[in-house]
Amino acid sequence: MGRKKKLINDENKTLAKPKKGKFQTVRGMRDILPSEQPYWQKVRRVAEKVAQDYGYQRIDTPIVEFRNLFEKGTGPGTDIVEKEMFVFKTKGGDEVCLRPEGTPSVARAYIQHGMRSLPKPVKLFYIGPMYRYERPQEGRYREMFQFGFEVFGEKDPILDAQLIQIANRIFKGIGIKKFSFQLNSIGCEECRPSYRKLLISYLNNRKNALCMDCKKRLKKNPLRVLDCKEEKCQQVISQAPQMIDHLCSDCKKHFTFLLECLDELEIQFSINPHLVRGLDYYTKTVFEIWPEGEEDGQVALGGGGRYDKLVETLGGASTPAVGFACGMDRIVAEMKKREVKVNFSSQPKIFLVQLGDLAKKKSLKIFEQLESSGISVAESFGRGNLRSQLRQANQMKVDFVLIIGQREALDETIILKDMNSGSQEVITFSKTVFELKKRLKKVAEEKLNNSDKKGSKNIKSVSKSSPSPKNSKNLSKKGNRTAKKKNRSSKASSRPTKRKTSSRKRKK
Ligand code: AMP
Repeated sequence: MGRKKKLINDENKTLAKPKKGKFQTVRGMRDILPSEQPYWQKVRRVAEKVAQDYGYQRIDTPIVEFRNLFEKGTGPGTDIVEKEMFVFKTKGGDEVCLRPEGTPSVARAYIQHGMRSLPKPVKLFYIGPMYRYERPQEGRYREMFQFGFEVFGEKDPILDAQLIQIANRIFKGIGIKKFSFQLNSIGCEECRPSYRKLLISYLNNRKNALCMDCKKRLKKNPLRVLDCKEEKCQQVISQAPQMIDHLCSDCKKHFTFLLECLDELEIQFSINPHLVRGLDYYTKTVFEIWPEGEEDGQVALGGGGRYDKLVETLGGASTPAVGFACGMDRIVAEMKKREVKVNFSSQPKIFLVQLGDLAKKKSLKIFEQLESSGISVAESFGRGNLRSQLRQANQMKVDFVLIIGQREALDETIILKDMNSGSQEVITFSKTVFELKKRLKKVAEEKLNNSDKKGSKNIKSVSKSSPSPKNSKNLSKKGNRTAKKKNRSSKASSRPTKRKTSSRKRKK
C-alpha cells in the first residue's frame, strides 16, 4: 500500500495521509477533543475512586525510561521489545525509550525507592500514556492510555482475586455491564519447564503446519505459539497439551483458590487454556477482560497476571507481585458503542453579560466570586454587544443571566434575569452569590420533582403489564442457568480443566 496507507483519527475514521506542509498528528496518535472528554473523565474518575476505596496509592513514573528496563523486564522475545518500542538516544548518549507499558516502570520504582521496607502488600495505581510502534487500526494506537493496579509483596491468591474484583467493579462503575474475564495459569519455574518440553516436542512434530512467526517462536518462546492468531496454527493449538493439566501442586492450589474466590464473588469468568499474555514475566495467574460478544476479537479491554519473578529480574529482592492494566482508548470506544451515559452537564447555569469598560472590569471580580463559591458561570468578555451575549446565553441554555451595564457598575448592582420565566430584578453585588445559590437550589428541586413525576408515570405504565406466565418462565430459566453455571464453576475449581475454551484469532 505504501503511500496510500490510512490514518485513524479520534473518531476511528480513516484520514488520508497528510498533505505536504499541513501539520497533522503523528501516525497512530490522536487528539482527544473536548467532545470526548466526558467519557475519559468518567473512566479516570471511576478508576481513581476504586483505587482509593481499595487502598491503592497513585504513582506516576516518567514516560521516558532506559530501554533495557523493558528488554529485561518485559522480555527480549516479546513483540513489545522486539518490534514495538520507540527507542532513541539522548544527547548524552543514553539509550532510552518511550515506555510501552507500566509494570516494569512501577517495579523499577518499587526497587529504586526501597518500598520493600513499607508495610506489605504495597498497593500502587497509575494512569498514563504508553507507546507502542504497532500497525495502527481500530482499537490499536501508537500512543494509548492505560490505568493499572500493581500489588507487591504478597503471594496469596486472594490478591489475584481482589484485582479481578477491582476490574469488575471499575467496568460496572463506568457503565460497561457486559464483559467477561478469561483466566489461565501458566505455572511457575517448577512446573513450566517440563510442560515447555512437552509442548516443544508436540509442536516440533507439527512444525510444518505452523506459520513462519510460530516457527521462530518455537525456538525463542514456544508458549507464545499458543497465543497465535493464524488460522493454520489454531488447528495445531487446539490439540496441544495444556499448562493447566500440568501444574505443580502449589500452582494448582493457587489457581483453585482464585477460582473459588471468584465463584464466591459471583464474577463471571471462563478458563482459556491458550491464554499466555505474550509477556515473559508472568507466573501462575493470567487473565484478560473481554467485551461481551467479542471474545474472539482483537481488542481485549484489559489484562494482567502474577509476576512473582519480575522484581528479582530487575535487581530487587525476591518479591511476589500481581497486577493488571486496562486500555482506556478501548474502554471509551466500548462506552460509546454501548451508549453509556456520561455527564455532559458541567454546563454552566449562569451567564455573565457586561456592557462598557467599567462593567467589564467589575465583571472580572464578580466572575471570581461566583466561581470560588462553586457556581459554574460562563462569560464572553471579548464581546460588548448585549444582543450577541444574550444569544450566546440562550444557546448555552443557562437558567440565569447576570447583566452589568455602566449604571449597575457605578451603583454596584446587577440585573438578574431568569431565563425560564423571563422575569428580571436588580440585586446588589454583595448579595449576588447568596441570591443565585437560593435560586439555583429552587431550580434543581423543581427539576427533581418533574423527573419524579415522570418516573412514577413510567412505573404505573410498567406495572399495568404484570408479568405474563411466559415472562416468569424465562426468569426461572435464567435462575437455573446461573445455578448451573455456579455448579460448573465450583466443580472446575476443585480441578482446573478446560472450561468454555475458545479457539480464536486474536492478540491481547
Ligand atoms: P497489555 O499492556 O498489552 O497487557 O495491554 C493492556 C490493555 O491495554 C489491553 O487489554 C488493551 O486494552 C490496551 N492496549 C494494549 N495495546 C494497545 C494499543 N496499541 N492501542 C490501544 N490499546 C491498547
